Amino acid sequence: MPPSDPIACLQVALPVPLPRLFDYLPPAGHAATPALVGHRVQVPFGSRELVGVVASVGMAEAGIELRQARGLPDAEPLFSGELLDSLRWLARYTHAPPGEVFATALPAPLRAGEPLPDTHAWAWLLTEAGATGLAGLRRNTRPRRLAELLEAGPADEERLDRQLEGWRDAARALAKRGYAERVAIPATPGAPDPQAGPPPNPEQQAAIDAIVAARGFAPVLLEGVTGSGKTEVYLHAIADCLARGRQALVLVPEIGLTPQTLARFRARLGVPVHALHSGLADGERARVWAAAWRGEARVVVGTRSAVFTPLPEAGLIVVDEEHDGSYKQQDGIRYHARDFALVRGKALAVPVLLGSATPSLETLHNAGAGRYAHLRLRQRAGEARPPAVRILDVRKRPLQAGLAPEVLEMIGAALRDGGQVLVFKNRRGYAPVLLCHDCGWSAHCPRCSTPVQSTPLTVHAGGGKLVCHHCGHRQSRPLACPDCASLALQPQGVGTERLEELLAERFADWPVLRIDRGTTQRRDGLARLLAELGDRPGILVGTQILAKGHDLPHLTRVVVVGVDEGLFSSDFRAGEKLAQLLIQVAGRAGRARRPGQVWWQTHHPDHRLLHDLLNGGYDAFARDELAQREAAGFPPFAHLAMLRAEAQQAGNADAFLRAARSILHDAADRMAAPGIELLGPVTAPMSRRAGLYRMQLLLSAATRPVLHALLDAALPAIHALPEARRTRWSLDIDPVDLY
Ligand code: ADP
Ligand code: ZN
Ligand code: ZN
Repeated sequence: MPPSDPIACLQVALPVPLPRLFDYLPPAGHAATPALVGHRVQVPFGSRELVGVVASVGMAEAGIELRQARGLPDAEPLFSGELLDSLRWLARYTHAPPGEVFATALPAPLRAGEPLPDTHAWAWLLTEAGATGLAGLRRNTRPRRLAELLEAGPADEERLDRQLEGWRDAARALAKRGYAERVAIPATPGAPDPQAGPPPNPEQQAAIDAIVAARGFAPVLLEGVTGSGKTEVYLHAIADCLARGRQALVLVPEIGLTPQTLARFRARLGVPVHALHSGLADGERARVWAAAWRGEARVVVGTRSAVFTPLPEAGLIVVDEEHDGSYKQQDGIRYHARDFALVRGKALAVPVLLGSATPSLETLHNAGAGRYAHLRLRQRAGEARPPAVRILDVRKRPLQAGLAPEVLEMIGAALRDGGQVLVFKNRRGYAPVLLCHDCGWSAHCPRCSTPVQSTPLTVHAGGGKLVCHHCGHRQSRPLACPDCASLALQPQGVGTERLEELLAERFADWPVLRIDRGTTQRRDGLARLLAELGDRPGILVGTQILAKGHDLPHLTRVVVVGVDEGLFSSDFRAGEKLAQLLIQVAGRAGRARRPGQVWWQTHHPDHRLLHDLLNGGYDAFARDELAQREAAGFPPFAHLAMLRAEAQQAGNADAFLRAARSILHDAADRMAAPGIELLGPVTAPMSRRAGLYRMQLLLSAATRPVLHALLDAALPAIHALPEARRTRWSLDIDPVDLY
């Protein structure tokens, strides 16, 4: 071969922030053939070794000296078929380095190059030699007892753990004589007979029929209030999927994946249900991923990142609470798990079931345009009745820890009546601000504040500690005002701790449980707190952790405090979030036979949003809100991308975004496409966080193709900007938080 000829090489996607592939010679003993595409590959990179994925094979330019890949850890590619294609799509859509997208899709051990874990269980059996030699073993010893046990047939290790203490040493002794042998068996602990659920009501049956009849890709919105029986519909659809010999993937929001949810799925489906969530050890996540990859896991229930589960035999994808904010990844590869689930469902040609009591406006818009089927569950399943909602005008009322006298009276009456009460307040801590009553100084985070914008520290621990909810900064509470030395430092406003304090004092005869991130660090913390309360009358004080996920059958009253905080916000999604929260929280009441009552405490009883919700429900709100979004040119009627920059010096972030803007501006001119807008750069609503100044530039386009064409045209030059090296910047397609 003449030296100037191009040579075949692997084009490798590496987890580095450069949006390109890297050429390598194949490892010794391998040729650069398409069969290697989708394989993990270990390669030298600078002085390090990285694990990448072979994205393609091609010809390297002549004259460039290529380094050689070191090894291929897998016998088969980890990424192939649909998942490979979908991840390539995701890299294009997020304009992110393909290597980082592949890395995001892998559990940490696999990302680090560890072998695909074993997903077998192990059993022991008696060999022929063992069967004949058994009688010669000394009586009443463990080896003898183990041999006798195995004489009846092979036993898996889990069973041996239960049946024979110290069996492992005995097994080793038998194995040494060739009497017993360890064999791999599929890790499908024999699930007990599935329990039957309640017979579906006609609306549920119609939904089940529609999903079961779907062939190929079919996006379906299942809209029904909390308690209307959506999960029952999922269970029937999954059972049908299993009966067809297919795998099902169920995505649930971060706070929805409770031990109860899993137990319900396990009991009803009669097959192992694999859970995937951030609380699992890395090794366990890798095992579930591997079990799905091998087709052994038939039902996977998981949070956001479970959307990357391989599904070689896919039959159904369910996204529960599709509107939930936890589906959007906020750093790294900023994907939206619901949207990516739809992309995968289309590529896999399977139905995608989106469930919610309060669908996102994007999804409602798609349903309204006929792109999704729209099924509804209008009644509550079983005997539960919808709660009555009442708006409580608290203007001019004396408030105690933010609660009106009528609310305190109502709580007392409900408790005496034997019911449980939920007081909902979306603020952790004791009070959101510590203020000097003499001079007006307030405690602010030194790492998140600027001379023009101060970020208050939240008062915690009964007033003794100050914590920043944005960066985690902590300090103890000063004894005197640092500005005027006055001792008149007062916590202002109300958090869950302060509510708890007031309610515990006021209703000393009843248990008061505070439920927020502070009291439920552990995954089962909430379940244990609720079990502690049981069906006794009492008060729950909580943040949105309580909005969804747990059945509270004895809850008869719900009070929402702090409605007003969401009514006037610069974020165009604030109204949608508030409406969803109000409906979800209301859904907690009246799941029992007793009728529920919900109170919304506000200073703005005539606000359009509250009025819409009260009179026309979420439907009316959504119609109104969609009309407003259309008029204002906001999503889903426009498509957004956010370029964010953070730097120690505000000027560096600003300089980068200005340069980026000018590149985008020129690219937009060349494209001559209508409906492109560049807004900014401006300081972010939270202008400093953890010591870094934050600026942003918002791009808006009338259509997705225009938005992506613009970014494709501009990004190479933006990456190459010298200013890019003096700032930390990121691109967020379809940003959810404009912060
Ligand atoms: P969602 O997922 O919409 O919140 P679930 O499926 O969890 O609703 O149902 C709420 C409650 O109603 C559960 O306890 C469930 O067992 C019960 N349920 C659901 N469907 C029916 C039905 N058709 N008949 C009787 N009870 C039902
Ligand atoms: Zn002061
Ligand atoms: Zn801070």
